[in-house]
Amino acid sequence: MPRARAGRGRRDALQEQSSHVRGLLPCLRTHMLSATLRRRLPLHPSRCGKRGVSTLLPSVDIVGGERSEVRNVWCIGRNYAAHARELGNAVPTEEPVIFLKASSSCRPLSAGPIAFESETFHHEIEMVLLVGEHVPLGGLTAEDRNPTACVRAVGLGLDLTRRGKQTELKKAGLPWTLAKSFAGAALLSPFAPCDGSFDLADVSFELSVNGQVKQSGHVEQMIFDVPFQLRYISSFAPLLPGDLIFTGTPAGVGPLTRGDEFSLRFLRGPQLPAFEGVL
Ligand code: MG
Repeated sequence: MPRARAGRGRRDALQEQSSHVRGLLPCLRTHMLSATLRRRLPLHPSRCGKRGVSTLLPSVDIVGGERSEVRNVWCIGRNYAAHARELGNAVPTEEPVIFLKASSSCRPLSAGPIAFESETFHHEIEMVLLVGEHVPLGGLTAEDRNPTACVRAVGLGLDLTRRGKQTELKKAGLPWTLAKSFAGAALLSPFAPCDGSFDLADVSFELSVNGQVKQSGHVEQMIFDVPFQLRYISSFAPLLPGDLIFTGTPAGVGPLTRGDEFSLRFLRGPQLPAFEGVL
């Protein structure tokens, strides 16, 4: 090929590459802005640009630097007999009590908004599972030997509850949504990856409020254990990556008001320091 024609070919190729890179620049800027916002905003939201519209999605931190967006927030109620009794409720035997919080209820322990902030809430410390993979509807059967394989990480959370409102709604036979699902109703620690360093069947945890231990529990005290919960939920809904499961609270629930300091820690299970927070 004559040298002049070969040079023109290279120039054309370079011009084509250059215009391709210029086309990518707006996307790159959006990505970098998104990463900056994720670092700055207290709720750790993701910002998904779509035709100039931003969507902020709640997410949780995983120890080691990763993060997972939150999808459904499933909650198991009355899963520790002593807690069911302390509120005068029947102890479930056949089926768990289950309810949902909106994912927008999620907040880190240390900062963030809370709705109904002049009210006195009830604290409920719970072990929280982060689902890491898709489990199709009916995908976990009684024969499944390893139902917990879909759990990516484990954290501690406070299922913050407007107890007075819940009592009122229960009496009226209405859903508990306004008592359980509101901004700040799901306070979450960072999550420990299920990397084989601990046994999900041997986890205990504790909550202190203003320096005093208020609640402690071991997963052995659960009426419906973790494998049962995973099979149960997947029997009527697929489990999705990013789903959270609040696994129930032990006895000792009590008041928590704006400004109260609290500490959540694993006693057995993930080897992590206590998580400090303030309402
Ligand atoms: Mg609860």
